[in-house]
Amino acid sequence: MTSLYVHVPFCPTICPYCDFHAVRRTRGAVAAYLERLEAEARALAPARTPLRTLYYGGGTPSYLREDELVRLLSLGLPLEAGAEVTLEANPGTLNRSRLALLRSLGVNRLSIGVQSFQDPVLRGLGRAHRARGAYRAIEEALDAGFRVSIDLILGLPGQDPERDLKEAVRLGVGHVSAYTLIVEPGTPFALAGLRENPDREARAFALAEAILGEAGLVRYEVANFARPGEEARHNQVYWRMGFWAGLGPSAASHEPAGAPGLYAVRRTRPPLHRWLAGEPPAEEPIPPREHVREALMMGLRTREGVDVAGLEAATGLKLWERLRPAAERLAEAGLLEVGKGRLVPTAGGLDLVHSLVLPLWEALS
Ligand code: SF4
Repeated sequence: MTSLYVHVPFCPTICPYCDFHAVRRTRGAVAAYLERLEAEARALAPARTPLRTLYYGGGTPSYLREDELVRLLSLGLPLEAGAEVTLEANPGTLNRSRLALLRSLGVNRLSIGVQSFQDPVLRGLGRAHRARGAYRAIEEALDAGFRVSIDLILGLPGQDPERDLKEAVRLGVGHVSAYTLIVEPGTPFALAGLRENPDREARAFALAEAILGEAGLVRYEVANFARPGEEARHNQVYWRMGFWAGLGPSAASHEPAGAPGLYAVRRTRPPLHRWLAGEPPAEEPIPPREHVREALMMGLRTREGVDVAGLEAATGLKLWERLRPAAERLAEAGLLEVGKGRLVPTAGGLDLVHSLVLPLWEALS
């Protein structure tokens, strides 16, 4: 495992659509969190090969105070030369001195939660920042030498998606993660009766592909666009169904099973207060067949597709002959390219991932 995810659950305010494990800081909570995180990291460090990717997600990791950031970013885990170290940040928590501190502590990539450059949309989302703060944070982060990715939510009521996408291009970020708003049950948006609008969202994604594509940001995953070389290497580990370790409350890891008949085990740590109390992670064993199903679902979200020959070698299962008839039908429909031992979605297929995955899953059942 050469990738590690660290979850930092603290946020200045809780957005009404949030479905992540995020809490407001309370007296003593961050100190207790850091203490336990350091203990987890110490337990992990001796067995570690150097990390290729390290990702601090949340929550809002950049919301921690400077002395807390120093502790968070000094966990003593060995890194490979050139490792990608990403930190999620909100615009309001970045300024030049903080950016310099993050650089000095080894962070080289920022994932900034912009969501929109339009103030009425940001107000509607309940975000703490405004467009001006987002411009400033992005410009200062690029000046400070970070690789910068921004998150945009597309297809929102009252939003001009073209304007948001063109602003992303104008600012010169190398990576855009574009999402639609998912109204999760139980969130304040769901309780207020807000509904998703698939037609508006599909139009916004078509615009994203056109505007970002013309500017050289390739749609390399359903929701992610990058200039060549700016792809999120940490997320590629997830999409390729590689192995990674996790630290912190609610963090998941995907680890080799080391037991006969199993391919992997997923360990999901409990939320903050139970994690602080020492509750161990929940374990989900993943047999080879389930691994293949997940690998199809994740890989078909990406332009590099699924390495079926590699999956056969890793699991010992015979897959290609069973998948081929369904894959050829999807190829005839223009959704899939069938290469030597590899299935690759076309541009049209990326818009219809479920239509790709379901027939292939059925072929294996
Ligand atoms: S900033 Fe992100 S993690 Fe924090 S509350 Fe808002 S959506 Fe949730």
